[in-house]
Amino acid sequence: MLYPKNIALRWQEVIANIEKSANLADRDYQTINLLAVSKKHPASAIRQLYDLGQKAFGESYLTEALDKIGELSDLAIEWHFIGPIQSNKTKGIAEHFSWVQSVDRIKIAKRLAQQRPQHMAPLNICIQVNLFNETAKSGAMITELPTIAQFISEQPQLKLRGIMAIPPKQVDYAKQQQQFAKIAACYQELKQEFPSLDTLSMGMSGDMQAAIAAGSNCIRIGTALFGERQ
Ligand SMILES: *Cc1c(COP(=O)(O)O)cnc(C)c1O
Repeated sequence: MLYPKNIALRWQEVIANIEKSANLADRDYQTINLLAVSKKHPASAIRQLYDLGQKAFGESYLTEALDKIGELSDLAIEWHFIGPIQSNKTKGIAEHFSWVQSVDRIKIAKRLAQQRPQHMAPLNICIQVNLFNETAKSGAMITELPTIAQFISEQPQLKLRGIMAIPPKQVDYAKQQQQFAKIAACYQELKQEFPSLDTLSMGMSGDMQAAIAAGSNCIRIGTALFGERQ
């Protein structure tokens, strides 16, 4: 199998890339979190990465995630849900994750708050924003953002941490920069109203350098760590 041989090397490369991008942007690389996106990859690969020191993992499909969370329950993994959320999935998410980065409407936030078990720490929330009017993609419109943020900030079972965005794929660095600058501006504006926000989640395998230059502090990496998904 591919994983055992390459995963340590890939992880070191991704961290070196984050460090290099941070240096270029005159930022401290230790303020940039790496979320390992493990969707469609087996629990064994997650365990291997965890043993190397990676603690935060992102999943997009609940059924698949719950299998892996069960299998890896002996590890202190910080699980992030990053996929589109249907109402019938909120309970499983509220009970098994530390973070949800893909909340894009009040209805979902309300259910997560109601279903978060009382004995657990508040569920950390990023609002997913759709800033580029991509009708097929999930994410709140910028005009809806203040209302959703206000609602989340009033729920004791939830903790509003920031925003997450998946801009359209661009190969050109200048175009990537433009898009990330727009997301960063949206984050800064929201932070004026909610000063405790601390998470700007943007940047994936193909565009992490531009994302870090624009101020991202959560890079979500799948392919560059685990290889291509099936
Ligand atoms: C799959 C996914 C990623 C990782 O994408 P790669 O291109 O494999 O690095 C990041 N963020 C979200 C929301 C995803 O669904």
